[in-house]
Amino acid sequence: MIFQKKYAMLIPVKKDIKVKFSNYFIPTLKEEPSGVDYLSQKLMLKSGMMKQVSSGLFVYLPTFMRVAEKVCKVIHEKMESVNAVPVKFPILVAKEDLVATNRWDAYGDEMFRLKDRNKKEYAISPTNEEYACFMAKNFIKSAKNMPFCVYQIQQKHRDEIRPRGGVMRAREFIMKDAYSFHPSTQSLDEYYIKMENAYKEIFNTFGLDFVEVLADSGAMGGKECHEFMSVCDKGEAEIAVCECGFCANMELAPNGVCPECGKPIAKVLQGNEMGHIFKLKTRYSDPLNLTFINADGKPEILQMGCYGIGVERVICSIIEQNNDARGIAFPEIVAPFVVNIITANMKDEAQVHLSEEIYHELTALGVEVIWDDRADRLGSKLADSELIGIPYNILVGKNATEGKAEFFARCGEKTLLSKEEIIAKYKK
Ligand code: ATP
Ligand code: MG
Repeated sequence: MIFQKKYAMLIPVKKDIKVKFSNYFIPTLKEEPSGVDYLSQKLMLKSGMMKQVSSGLFVYLPTFMRVAEKVCKVIHEKMESVNAVPVKFPILVAKEDLVATNRWDAYGDEMFRLKDRNKKEYAISPTNEEYACFMAKNFIKSAKNMPFCVYQIQQKHRDEIRPRGGVMRAREFIMKDAYSFHPSTQSLDEYYIKMENAYKEIFNTFGLDFVEVLADSGAMGGKECHEFMSVCDKGEAEIAVCECGFCANMELAPNGVCPECGKPIAKVLQGNEMGHIFKLKTRYSDPLNLTFINADGKPEILQMGCYGIGVERVICSIIEQNNDARGIAFPEIVAPFVVNIITANMKDEAQVHLSEEIYHELTALGVEVIWDDRADRLGSKLADSELIGIPYNILVGKNATEGKAEFFARCGEKTLLSKEEIIAKYKK
């Protein structure tokens, strides 16, 4: 197993920029998947990104892994930009720790529970606030050690009543969860804004159409919690949008009035929650007695924030917003491959030779290339490329004898170019 140096997800990915279709694994389906709730779900199944193995449980296949790794890379970079540092918490949490914060009872049936060989009870933790507090306890001594923020990207498990939409609402999914620690509410407020901006940058990097909405933070009140929703007609969440620009979760605007300016709600959008940021304040630090020594030399309970992003929800949202009748139209930044070299006829020596040369030269330039070297019909190879969502194609056909091939963006116009002209496009 190869762990990529810095930006790997916890799941090990062997990052190969050079891939031949014939010995890779992209099991595209000819038939339409049935019983799907979302277009993204259909396309992910059909394009061979994933396969369902049980209710709400999916195997992620190689193209999914490549897309997820790219999404995670952007998340890692933006977390680094707000000085959050990577950690990994255990997935199992002992009952007593969750009892201490009242989550053992409050979480209800959505939390998976199990026993060890000594009958000691555990939960598969839905998030890791308790362990984040335990971790901080021996390190944070005074205000000088803060703000301090840690994050992980790892699997979460939730026993959803109704798993839906493939990995949009699954029972196992990947979350980026971050936990910040502060000596004052002012420090928390300042850091929260930084994180809010980092979130906007993340979703903008993927070109997503999204809105940030004020959400219900239970008893706490105030502007303590925001959700980032990708706009989607079939989205599960209803978003109230006011003329004043303010967006709120419908739970906060049930009377049809904007909670910010008091005017009637102008429109209601549907969306899917991709991320959630929350001022926890002392919700966990108080019951777990997480303190620092303040300026008066006295122990004081510290302030916390937590910040989640669902990696699959981001991927599903990108696909919901970038597709057509032929398949997924991935933006280059997250596409599993950037270029597909399609050899029209693998029995033609000139075509194979030219394809191979382009393949080696592009990969030497660091371009993520797949070579469709299968013996299949050209039509089905082109259809697969459009379904999988590879942004650029190089079709090596009968002009191979003159050293030329057709270059075209997904579903775009073809241009006949020499090998040198093609390579020059990537020599920057
Ligand atoms: P929802 O209201 O959709 O159930 P949540 O409020 O339970 O979401 P959080 O606890 O805030 O979600 O988790 C952080 C993020 O994890 C969410 O913003 C979402 O992107 C993702 N997420 C939550 N539940 C699931 C799930 N079952 N499958 C995939 N992603 C999920
Ligand atoms: Mg939920």
